[in-house]
Amino acid sequence: MVFTNRNTRLSFLLFWYLTSATQLLIGLSGTASFEGFKDATITAFLWLIPVLLFPKYIKSITAGLGAMLWLFALPGFGYFMIYGQELTQSLMFIIFESNQSESAEYFQNYISTGLVLGYLIFTLVPIYIWSKIERSQAIRKKAYLTSLIIFLLIFLTPVSRAIQHNDISAGYKNINHHLSVAPPWQLGFGYVNYQRELKEVESHLLSLNKIPPLNNLKEAKKTLPTTVVLVIGESTTRVHMGLYDYQRDTNPKLSSIKNELTTFNNVFASRPNTIESLQQVLTFADQEHPDLYKTNPSLIAMMKQAGYKVYWITNQQTLTKRNTMLTTFAKQADEQVFLNNARSQNSYSFDEKVLAPYAKKLAIKDEKKLIIVHLLGTHMKYAYRYPASYNYFKDAKGLSPALSANKVKFINEYDNAVRYNDHIVYQLIQGLKNTNKNNQQSLLVYFSDHGEDVYDTKPHDFKGRNEGAPTYPMYAIPFVVWHSLNWESADKLSDPAIRKRQYDNADFIYTWSDLLGLSYDSYRDDESILSKNFVEDTILVGNPYEKTLTVLKNTVRSENNQALATN
Ligand SMILES: [Zn+2]
Repeated sequence: MVFTNRNTRLSFLLFWYLTSATQLLIGLSGTASFEGFKDATITAFLWLIPVLLFPKYIKSITAGLGAMLWLFALPGFGYFMIYGQELTQSLMFIIFESNQSESAEYFQNYISTGLVLGYLIFTLVPIYIWSKIERSQAIRKKAYLTSLIIFLLIFLTPVSRAIQHNDISAGYKNINHHLSVAPPWQLGFGYVNYQRELKEVESHLLSLNKIPPLNNLKEAKKTLPTTVVLVIGESTTRVHMGLYDYQRDTNPKLSSIKNELTTFNNVFASRPNTIESLQQVLTFADQEHPDLYKTNPSLIAMMKQAGYKVYWITNQQTLTKRNTMLTTFAKQADEQVFLNNARSQNSYSFDEKVLAPYAKKLAIKDEKKLIIVHLLGTHMKYAYRYPASYNYFKDAKGLSPALSANKVKFINEYDNAVRYNDHIVYQLIQGLKNTNKNNQQSLLVYFSDHGEDVYDTKPHDFKGRNEGAPTYPMYAIPFVVWHSLNWESADKLSDPAIRKRQYDNADFIYTWSDLLGLSYDSYRDDESILSKNFVEDTILVGNPYEKTLTVLKNTVRSENNQALATN
């Protein structure tokens, strides 16, 4: 009924174009899903309400609103023209917070003929549409009803959310989520969200900085300049890794240097989500003492105390509501490089982005440095994690014939992502190996924050992670150490028996300390996977704040993870 009138149709077209064209381009280019386009299109209806209610002023209303929307759409459209990506609050974070020279590129005047032409077309189309709109007379019969329907279409969900949760912020969150994709809200909400998340990061950081340093921190003497690298993977289960005997060749590169790697076979994440897991991995907290990260120094603080220059390079989203604690850890480092400004997880941001800044950090002459590289790894949606050239697994070869075509498709995407991740981790090792020629000693540790079940566990109908229904692949993570031949404490890794030890990666800080020769009063030798005093871990899973911890099943020591996962 909205579109029976020509003027209304044209007005809608005008508003739709100005609010949604950029989102449509983003969707078509494949850099992100069409979800933003859908939301933007819905917001376009809102601007019809004044047109319907005051048809006499249709020309000035559409001109005024059109000009306003055009103005607010310009930054997002221009950003897409230049970078082929969406303008988001994470990008604002990169612009305002990053102390990297890399961020300077965002400010560069980037005037090209293509851009000018793009802006010209972007501007002429709405002017042409507007010129076709004619002055109307009386209010049409159904104008009020239509306006009400549009209003409900946009505000019914948030209002009912607020009532349902008895919390106005639940409604706000919903509006924020859906409106922040379109002008004019994009910039406003983006800035407000950015400010809010930043405040949270700063308050976390303030309390972390108040934590007293470790008592009696000492480091075994190092005779050469030292570079250590910590590569944190994402959602990669070792069950799908060729390096761990997966039947598909998902790790050709790492397998080719297998004899240079110490590969641990029974390391488990304590929690199946990024923040919850890393909150324990990067600190002294664990499942039984989940809050220790608030009172004891983090791994980053410890390394700085030991005199290391700490760099943090991440291809993870930085300033989404969930990631503030992670960003706080990042900000504890001396320097950060934030590379992912996507609003949605379902966006392309290939991990190869980390390689250039990584090479730059490696080249800096520090006596002692730590580079933390946080990858996007094999996070869903898997198809967004690898470039087209890594589309290697295309059929059901190597998979159970009982799997449906749809499941095979997802498994192929996941395995392709694992194969691409193999390439990235290999490149990180090679980069370190090459700088090592300059009379250095170096060490690299790679693990994943947690695993992922990709229809692995019988009856093969679940994909993802669920803390309430834990399975082996969700927690079974790769844990790999590479070190230069001159690494001084290399003998700690020499006994092959240590590779079979069952280990909870929440205790990682102790293994890391042991590898580097760090000791302090609160150091516990029995928590290091390398130590002769090591005491095997029971893998406790579940939410520690709900006091429902259970022992993960099927963690019997075995070299063949695949057999376990399908049991
Ligand atoms: Zn994760």
